[in-house]
Amino acid sequence: MNKFKNLGLSDDLILLLSELGYKEPTKIQSLSIPLALMGRDILGCAQTGTGKTASFVLPIIEILNNQKSKARMPRSLILTPTRELAEQISIYFKKILKNNKLNFCLLIGGTALTDQDKLLNKGVDILIATPGRLIDHINRGNILFNDLKILVIDEADRMLDMGFIPDIDQISENLPKIRQTLFFSATLNKEILNIGKRFVINPKLIEVSPPSSTSNTIDQYIIKCNNKNKLNTLENILSNIETKNTVIFCNRKKDIGSLYTALKRRNISSIMFHGDLIQSKRQEALREFKNGNNKILIASDVAGRGIDIENISHVINFDVPINPEDYVHRIGRTGRAGKKGTAITFVLKKDTKYLQEIEKLIKMKIKIFNINLEEKKIQDYEFDTLYESNQIPNFLKR
Ligand code: ADP
Ligand code: MG
Repeated sequence: MNKFKNLGLSDDLILLLSELGYKEPTKIQSLSIPLALMGRDILGCAQTGTGKTASFVLPIIEILNNQKSKARMPRSLILTPTRELAEQISIYFKKILKNNKLNFCLLIGGTALTDQDKLLNKGVDILIATPGRLIDHINRGNILFNDLKILVIDEADRMLDMGFIPDIDQISENLPKIRQTLFFSATLNKEILNIGKRFVINPKLIEVSPPSSTSNTIDQYIIKCNNKNKLNTLENILSNIETKNTVIFCNRKKDIGSLYTALKRRNISSIMFHGDLIQSKRQEALREFKNGNNKILIASDVAGRGIDIENISHVINFDVPINPEDYVHRIGRTGRAGKKGTAITFVLKKDTKYLQEIEKLIKMKIKIFNINLEEKKIQDYEFDTLYESNQIPNFLKR
């Protein structure tokens, strides 16, 4: 018997899921869908790429089915930290709602307010929004939340951190107190759960694996290097390792531009993706990357959360992230849905403390990268000494 059936989902949805190639539910889906269908609040924590999206999308559809929303009165709201994640979730709804009367609306910044307003006026069942744009609509009186049944906060720890919490509080003031609330993330620590308390009622905490653990489908490495040889090392990796799509993360937006130019000078073409680009450029960048026109995306942490792109075989942290949770999310762009991936983090001497924080969070020591690029096999190699002496190992040379 189809294991989705045991979760209480309807036959129509199950048929659709099999068309999507979902043979059986993932762990987080098995644990959270039945509880969500019962109306429970959920704090769901499961590793990156393990199907948290369907864990809230499917119950929303079941719960809202057979009724229609009134004008300006959505019945569910999904909040995400980035426009691209919101858009991705809306595309997921589009696929799953193809034979269904329920409708959705994407409310994200950088797009026209008036089109969104027209849709809201017609009546929308599911709103998928980033906080800033949602607040714009609330302030304009475009939305009434009296009928809201379900609130989802995806990437919940990011949404409850200092940057977003004032927005979330403001939005929450407009929502009915009696509603169902679902939180999901791959990293939910005690402090965040504490902050989250005020948004939920008697929630069920679901932790599939240790919080903030990284998926074992991702091979993780560090490369110790210095400022002088960092770029050469990257160039060598990009030119010698067989990759499909690669995301390179930098900590600062201005470094994305410098790295883009430096790689271009070395005849390596890439795409930039960060929050200072206008929305059409952001969309174009992701589109080019997704369709394989360009295989290298240099990104800020805007691309770190939730983005699900097939064929990302490698994530390279050109800078060690300052916030250890960001490491988990960045490398989680690869090794998704059971596929294999590789993550390589460049570590300068001054980054040692950040690396230690990451290793403490994920509760493992990250291996030193020692793949022989010529023979493509693992070999003992003393990177540390080589790199400290500012030389490039032979096998990293072209
Ligand atoms: P998460 O939010 O946990 O990081 P996503 O919801 O983005 O993960 O899902 C990761 C990928 O796994 C997506 O491409 C999704 O279509 C796929 N997926 C989710 N659930 C299943 C399933 N039950 N069977 C097969 N693939 C699935
Ligand atoms: Mg997700």
